[in-house]
Amino acid sequence: AVPLVIAKSTALSARHGLLIKNRTDFENSRKITTLVFDKTGTLTVGRFEVVRFESLQQGISKEEILKMAAALEGSSEHPIATGITGKAKEMQLTLPAAENVTAITGKGITGNIAGKTVQVVSPGYAGEHFKDAATATIQPGETLVYVVTDNTVAGFIALADQIRPESAGAIATLKENRIKTVLLTGDNKVVAESVSKTLDMDSYIAEVLPHQKLDKIKELQQQGEFVAMTGDGINDAPALAQANVGIAIGSGSDVAAETAGIVLVNSNPQDVVNLILFGKATYRKMI
Ligand code: ADP
Ligand code: MG
Repeated sequence: AVPLVIAKSTALSARHGLLIKNRTDFENSRKITTLVFDKTGTLTVGRFEVVRFESLQQGISKEEILKMAAALEGSSEHPIATGITGKAKEMQLTLPAAENVTAITGKGITGNIAGKTVQVVSPGYAGEHFKDAATATIQPGETLVYVVTDNTVAGFIALADQIRPESAGAIATLKENRIKTVLLTGDNKVVAESVSKTLDMDSYIAEVLPHQKLDKIKELQQQGEFVAMTGDGINDAPALAQANVGIAIGSGSDVAAETAGIVLVNSNPQDVVNLILFGKATYRKMI
């Protein structure tokens, strides 16, 4: 039988914006020493807008760069893809046909356009595969992707996302409760550093591939941390499962919500604080 205090708390939790799916995760929430946040869609809104795009190759216009990228991204549901196709639509560009489009998980997308291999990839991937290629300077707060044709970097597109208005307050309150905060993201170092600095977080880990998110949680646990992970994406699910407390953002993917023990119904990072304080209050009553 469920103890009365817990039964009452589960009903109360709805008022705090929490859906408690796994009682152990709720019970563990008062022991958290480190809270790991995914960036995109968790601390940020997860809506990317194109802020600038350029050609880095003679004979290709900047519009062509955007057209090729948008043609590939039409097949993707990644927030970066939505930002790029949205911009092309706004500019009323006519897109070329793209074939054989496939995702390069956590790194980008590839396909064929007019007999050429075209890729839209992360700076990390471009740096590894196309040495001595032309590069762009990433501005703080920018997520940048390179557009590559036949293994030559042809241009770039810079996008920006917005930090959720509630994120700063949530981080500050966690600090007051002596909980360390870590930003974990597949995005580039420049944007990871600027977001973590803006929010005054303890540290950041950037350019992490989806399968590495899990390993980062394990590493923290081996260092003696009691770890909570907050994420929204399919790529966050293994890390959510590994964490001592897995917290999914309500507006995120179904896979994340299924895996996590707790779901933030209103997608508000401030509710993470509610979870911890509420967990402490609940279990204090039982002792
Ligand atoms: P996050 O950890 O922020 O959820 P992802 O693992 O989804 O990030 O993606 C990491 C990086 O891989 C992105 O910042 C981007 O550089 C690249 N990437 C992933 N998917 C795409 C795509 N569809 N188009 C372009 N770049 C992509
Ligand atoms: Mg994400």
